[in-house]
Amino acid sequence: DLILFWHRRDLRISDNIGLAAARKRSQKVVGVFCLDPNILERDDVAPARMVYMIGSLQSLKERYQQAGSQLLILHDNPTQAIPALAAALNAKAVFWNWDVEPYSKERDRIVTETLKTKGIEVQNNWDQLLHSPEDIFTGSNKPYTVYTPFWRNWSSKPKTEPVEELKDAENLTPAEQEAAHQSGVVELPTAKDLGFVWDNELVTQPGEAAAQEKLEEFCDSHLGEYKEQRNFPAVHGTSQLSAALKFGVIGIRTVWKATETALENSRSDEEQSSIRGWQQELAWREFYQHAMYWFPELAEGAFRELLQNFPYENNEEDFQAWCEGRTGYPIVDAAMRQMNEIGWMHNRCRMIVANFLTKDLLIDPRKGEKYFMQKLYDWDLSANNGGWQWSASSGMDPKPVRIFNPATQAQKFDPDGDYIREWVPELRSVDTEYLVTGKIPALESEAVGYPAPIVDHNKRQRQYKERYQQQKEQF
Ligand code: FAD
Repeated sequence: DLILFWHRRDLRISDNIGLAAARKRSQKVVGVFCLDPNILERDDVAPARMVYMIGSLQSLKERYQQAGSQLLILHDNPTQAIPALAAALNAKAVFWNWDVEPYSKERDRIVTETLKTKGIEVQNNWDQLLHSPEDIFTGSNKPYTVYTPFWRNWSSKPKTEPVEELKDAENLTPAEQEAAHQSGVVELPTAKDLGFVWDNELVTQPGEAAAQEKLEEFCDSHLGEYKEQRNFPAVHGTSQLSAALKFGVIGIRTVWKATETALENSRSDEEQSSIRGWQQELAWREFYQHAMYWFPELAEGAFRELLQNFPYENNEEDFQAWCEGRTGYPIVDAAMRQMNEIGWMHNRCRMIVANFLTKDLLIDPRKGEKYFMQKLYDWDLSANNGGWQWSASSGMDPKPVRIFNPATQAQKFDPDGDYIREWVPELRSVDTEYLVTGKIPALESEAVGYPAPIVDHNKRQRQYKERYQQQKEQF
């Protein structure tokens, strides 16, 4: 019996629960990936992300060939294209792994219905999470809206081992190959073919082997010091595995197992606490995915009612200055330019710039959220939304308002100005004291062509708080 395995955000053949289940059912397993015009034609697709995705698909294609089978590519609306291909191949079943996003859930519902009317079986599994949204509830059987108790529950549950990779599958017959082509199977295009131009290096190369290597390198060289180093953007102290995790180029069980091995081999309390700290970040990823699964309205706007009609100013010039890294706040500008240039931004800086956009520039977080989508190669709906809602104080963070002072942040986390100098080259010769406080003498900033601050932090902070207070009084 032929089984079609539909890859979506699980671009790998190792440690893939759904794929392993398909192979268990039948020797004859063929992969398919559908380039979805509903996604690719949106105005928020980052070219860097497409380069990573297509590169990972190229590698997945090779992995299938090594295993004896193949990856088929479709470029059409999946709600029609997947059932049509399954029918053309006379597939017994289509398997895929579930996702938490509203768009995916609706798409999958339609595909399932259509396949069933054609008499084709559907089987789904949870794969991208260590615990599915249906596995973790509060004592009163509700999804969590606060991270700390979620973490306590989530971390106390046993985790499953990585599953076996696809090793020996049977390919299509020549007649089936012909039927696949008749049914719309195409060659894998390049990102350029699809209209996405991106020439810069990515922080993590596409494909399973590169992700695995990155994991090993991180565990060997940085994981034990994660706690001290993770907040310093000038230091390579984090894993840079976010895109691999977003596209499922590495299995989450494989990542977890690496942390358990590291714990067993750790030599000090500090090391252990670093490893646990990293495990907590992996749990934040799951917390936000569970939240998106249970509260899809998060994708539309503020979760807290108080923030739903917040009187943002939405000044377009300020927004453009923020996007381009020309706010006159060196730490903010460095971060924005890092993202514009390499499609990735350090977590500390994501918090700083998101806080700045919403609390200093008084701009609707959804505008920033969308700009991140247009630039990040690791963009993920749940994590990005979670991060923006946290920064805008509109989400599940129990602290009512959180305002960052960019100067304090820079002094603490980029004390020597190394990060600022790396990404804002015109400031390289400026004294560190000026860089981190943001108080660059006017003559000096003019001389190097760097803008004066577009707003006054103290003034804006007061304005934000006043507006917040007014909102509160309405409730
Ligand atoms: P590490 O520190 O090595 O962490 C390991 C992994 O844990 C990450 O790869 C990621 O999968 C997960 N993780 C870590 N921190 C978080 C977090 N706060 N929330 C959810 N998952 C986390 N992460 C994305 O993957 N995609 C996004 O689009 C995204 N947008 C963000 C927007 C804002 C405003 C903020 C504040 C955070 C955002 N994050 C996002 C979370 C975090 O910044 C990145 O996951 C992290 O910087 C990626 O680098 P890393 O892989 O080296 O992380």
